[in-house]
Amino acid sequence: MIQSLQDTITLHNGVNMPGLGLGVFQVEEGTVLIQAVKSAIAHGYRSIDTAAIYGNERSVGQGIREAMLDNGITRDKLFITSKVWNADLGYDSTLAAYEASLDRLGLEYLDLYLIHWPVIGKYKAAWSALEKLYREGRVKAIGVSNFQIHHLEDLMSEAQIKPMVNQVEFHPRLTQKELLRYTQAQGIQLEAWSPLMQGQLLNDPLLLEMAARYGKSVAQIILRWDLQHGVVTIPKSIQASRIAENAALFDFELSPEDMGRIDALNQNLRVGPDPDHFDF
Ligand code: NDP
Repeated sequence: MIQSLQDTITLHNGVNMPGLGLGVFQVEEGTVLIQAVKSAIAHGYRSIDTAAIYGNERSVGQGIREAMLDNGITRDKLFITSKVWNADLGYDSTLAAYEASLDRLGLEYLDLYLIHWPVIGKYKAAWSALEKLYREGRVKAIGVSNFQIHHLEDLMSEAQIKPMVNQVEFHPRLTQKELLRYTQAQGIQLEAWSPLMQGQLLNDPLLLEMAARYGKSVAQIILRWDLQHGVVTIPKSIQASRIAENAALFDFELSPEDMGRIDALNQNLRVGPDPDHFDF
């Protein structure tokens, strides 16, 4: 269990990954995004999660560079993630997509590069490309996103390197119990996207009651629940006050009973696409 904002978990290849990061999905290139990234890093965040399909890698990169200068932080203290989009899955096209992401971000390397979605028939060639990038030291860790257990088993039946991370939708309405157990047994780190269910859990009566009892916000209760499950989490916010709020998770602890109560909110309900039925 991480104890502070800059604490890390160790991936199976020995790379350290911050337990908490900033997500930037659905934020356009521009000042708002640059400021959000700068605000997060100034506040102590060290991990930023973007993707080629978000169309915002340039501003993420600019925010990172400015924040490094402002705060005297070197690149090796940051953990930057991006993802190869479905249209680029394939061996050569994935290698090219990696270079294009680096170019837009203005970075020499990524800490984590993920296959964004498990497009059947395409993810194995893309994985070979990620393995090559990893072996050549171009990326510190490689992983997947939106992979179900069967996708992971299929990939690992031929892969030479086991994914270090699987980033999936994970929140109190979608607790991914089997996937969490499976990835823990495999040494694959689970990472929660849409941890706040894009804001849809903020009025949940149980979470409101707990928030009042612990003297925290609903968002903080949920994010703390992620961390106590050993799940890396990347809440998105463009507001400095919420960026700070989402990182103030280390002065309280949910009891085992309350962890169980939150687990029991599961409805296998998704806010995003189902990895077994998506058409993009
Ligand atoms: P989140 O669950 O993080 O919710 C974000 C929403 O919650 C925004 O509307 C934000 O508004 C609001 N919010 C943030 N903090 C608070 C707070 N403390 N109190 C109240 N409201 C709050 O949704 P995302 O879908 O953005 O998921 C997080 C990240 O996961 C993404 O940004 C992306 O990096 C990644 N992701 C990955 C996917 C994948 O397929 N691999 C898919 C989807 C997301 P505001 O900004 O105004 O504060």
